Amino acid sequence: MSYCRFASDSDVFLLSTRDGIECLECRLEGGVTYRALPTKHDAVLHLVEHLAVGHRVPVRAFDRLLTEIATDARAEVGRRLHDALTLLNPDVQAGLEAMRRGDVTDA
Ligand SMILES: [Zn+2]
Repeated sequence: MSYCRFASDSDVFLLSTRDGIECLECRLEGGVTYRALPTKHDAVLHLVEHLAVGHRVPVRAFDRLLTEIATDARAEVGRRLHDALTLLNPDVQAGLEAMRRGDVTDA
């Protein structure tokens, strides 16, 4: 799956792989190799580097990466919240459950 590929509006071929993201035939480095980008944040910054030297980068590539970053961040917050709640002792969990059911009100 590519974020963008060589075309009339793109000098960059950014590909999502099992290990992360790769900039294929990266023209920042002479087009002779690929550039591994471990995270989506790295990929966004890499695209900015392309823009900085005058390469064409489709806006949709930024849109997709930034949307995925936001989605990943929301999922991570949800996971951390779940983990934190499961660490609470059973009494606290029971109290929270009672509050959720409306059995407990502020005195
Ligand atoms: Zn590149």
